[in-house]
Amino acid sequence: STEQKRSDYELMMHVAKFYQHQLKHHDNSTQVIEYLKGRGLSGETAKQFMIGYAPSEWDSVCKTFAKNQDSKKQLLELKLASEKSAGRQFDFFRDRLMFPIRDKRGRVIAFGGRIMNSDDNGPKYLNSPETRVFHKGFELYGLYEAKHANKKLEQILVVEGYMDVVALAEKGINYAVAALGTATTPEHIHTLFRTTDRIICCYDGDRAGRDAAWRALENALPYLNHGKSLEFVFLPDGEDPDSLVQKEGREAFELRYDDATDFSVYLFDRLAQEINLTTDAGKSKLLQQALPLIEKVPSDYYQDNLLDKLARLIGRTR
Ligand code: ATP
Ligand code: MN
Ligand code: MN
Ligand code: MN
Repeated sequence: STEQKRSDYELMMHVAKFYQHQLKHHDNSTQVIEYLKGRGLSGETAKQFMIGYAPSEWDSVCKTFAKNQDSKKQLLELKLASEKSAGRQFDFFRDRLMFPIRDKRGRVIAFGGRIMNSDDNGPKYLNSPETRVFHKGFELYGLYEAKHANKKLEQILVVEGYMDVVALAEKGINYAVAALGTATTPEHIHTLFRTTDRIICCYDGDRAGRDAAWRALENALPYLNHGKSLEFVFLPDGEDPDSLVQKEGREAFELRYDDATDFSVYLFDRLAQEINLTTDAGKSKLLQQALPLIEKVPSDYYQDNLLDKLARLIGRTR
């Protein structure tokens, strides 16, 4: 019900503020702040993104927010708490740096949490599972903050991680968003093209990052209408936007997308990588793989352009 949802959003926001408070006042505060500093983040950026700390105790959130049967149930349903046996609840996030995920209206709908000690066990990042207020694949981390920081978003940078978004913002690049541990989905692209005409994908310089780029391209093709542009920046091996912007600073980083790779170039580059275009078999293979992709593009202009490129690659004139 709407009443239920309103109460959900309220609780999520209260918990986010609780984590934010713990960042400054918990016994571990010094170490957490040292971690943030070590990653080059200022208090101002931490505040902008409502970054917090989930205490190391088993039941800080439960103790603070489970007041009665209803609120206990709600904590479980919002995946802020888990239970081992009936009635015995404990916090879902413990001893982690917390990134609240906000929807386009600024409501907190989920969290991502990072461990800070590499000798800790458990996954490096823990993300909220889906709940009735959090639908993965639709939400983009940082979009609310980016909209707030910019009157008009001439471009949006799509990156992989929370830390990339936050580190870029720290350096004044306030227009990056991250898909949440999933691929960039068709819904993400749809949402982004309602906000900007230019999407620049900038994933990690590794195998996973390059695969993510290709999936983003496939998912974006049906949204390439007139006036929309999709480009790719490929980072050096082993780098991600966070590590790179720390090394080279804002200007050098922004120069990288002055000559980003247009989707129409990347499409053929990637296909041609595994195909020998000097043989007829190779050419027909390219044709067979490229045509279904080209057909997804709604803009006639882009489609024509792609068909011209294809014709040139297989040595025909159209
Ligand atoms: P950091 O710089 O803090 O190590 P990162 O963003 O570079 O973080 P990556 O390993 O590149 O981390 O992962 C990118 C994103 O993928 C993360 O921000 C997170 O959303 C997701 N992710 C990574 N590892 C995990 C994991 N073990 N479980 C769930 N999601 C993860
Ligand atoms: Mn990576
Ligand atoms: Mn990374
Ligand atoms: Mn990183």
